[in-house]
Amino acid sequence: MQKYGGTSVADPDRIKAVAEHIVATRRAGNDVVVVVSAMGKTTDELEALAHQVSSAPAAREMDMLLTSGERISIALLCMAIIDCGEHAVSYTGSQAGIVTDTTHRKAKIVDVRAERLRDALDGGAVVVVAGFQGVSTESDVTTLGRGGSDTTAVALAAALQAESCEIYTDVTGVFTADPRLVPDARRLDRLSYEEMLDMAATGSRVLALRSVEFARNHGVRVHVRSSFTWEPGTWVVEEDEAMEQAIISGVTHDTSEAKITLSHVPDRPGVAAKVFRALADEAVNVDMIVQNVSMADHTDISFTLPKEDLSRAKKVMEQLVEDVGASGFTPDEGIGRVSLVGAGMKTHPGVAATMFEVLAHEGVNIEMISTSSIRISCVVQEADVEKAVRALHAAFELDQPSKAQA
Ligand code: ADP
Ligand code: ASP
Ligand code: MG
Repeated sequence: MQKYGGTSVADPDRIKAVAEHIVATRRAGNDVVVVVSAMGKTTDELEALAHQVSSAPAAREMDMLLTSGERISIALLCMAIIDCGEHAVSYTGSQAGIVTDTTHRKAKIVDVRAERLRDALDGGAVVVVAGFQGVSTESDVTTLGRGGSDTTAVALAAALQAESCEIYTDVTGVFTADPRLVPDARRLDRLSYEEMLDMAATGSRVLALRSVEFARNHGVRVHVRSSFTWEPGTWVVEEDEAMEQAIISGVTHDTSEAKITLSHVPDRPGVAAKVFRALADEAVNVDMIVQNVSMADHTDISFTLPKEDLSRAKKVMEQLVEDVGASGFTPDEGIGRVSLVGAGMKTHPGVAATMFEVLAHEGVNIEMISTSSIRISCVVQEADVEKAVRALHAAFELDQPSKAQA
């Protein structure tokens, strides 16, 4: 299984280079299934186009539009492989048997019916599947959420019992921080599913969160590597196989969320339930929640949510302010989240303290904190995110492998 992201197939030369690598893999005696993303920034451009004709594009039609990007790249890639003298056949998500639920734009895979692909492989073809898309149980075209080609690849790798799932991208693996932000970030050789899950959940977009969940649940060995240098990259595997016992594996950041604070809410049973039920009913994806200590029987509740859910959330909040008797609400789009992830945190106290000291030293104010057994996240002002990531990376000496060892 090989998956190629948008930059890997951004132009004709890249498509030809990828085709040659696939052909070489095939000629080495492997059955090859390829999942491919839309070329370059196609998905962003199609989204922008939709917003030029509609203020709130209908989700079903958005899926119909966005899936066309991957349709272009599968056809072109097959043509290039055929040109190299190998047999190749392209399939849309629907043709490949990727069955999803009916949630447009964020559909979940519920079944993979891979018989057709298996037959094609048996017939000697290289199989090329459009990433990020499927067909719903109601027979509509769906997409799996941004970055969803990773999920297609891992799901097919599980269904076809592939040896491994290679995710080819524009970096040489998973790094201790986004290499675009931290030039001396270090590539990790191995990482456990749990660590990768927390890194993906807190903003490291190198692998989509769902794909990591799927890989862990089905034991798919994932190899993240470069389609530009082709060198070995990072393996995401079971914890006992992930030898690198670092306290901290990485620093991640995410600027895709906003924060809402509901002020002066009466502090009595049922209020939080009412607030978050109303948000859930409008499909607002609430992430972190913080409630302050009560003063004079009133409190503040703050939570974070994806920026794309903000306009829907604001409507809900306007109604809620009246319903629960709050004094008002304040949305803040200018926030970011900085997180430390590492399995060694479980056994090493003091990581949180050091993190807060580093941020304090940089003059970065912490607005919210949340933790899991292997992660600490702080919400800060968006303008402070880059500074915070670099300072944490340096303070925990993540550029040096020996220092990061437990
Ligand atoms: P693709 O189009 O191949 O799916 P993505 O843009 O989705 O590629 O993901 C690769 C990008 O993820 C890299 O270019 C890098 O900037 C970013 N990234 C963020 N955090 C990390 C990290 N910890 N390690 C590696 N890459 C990261
Ligand atoms: N083309 C889709 C996106 O840009 C899916 C993917 O690349 O994984 O999000
Ligand atoms: Mg991606």
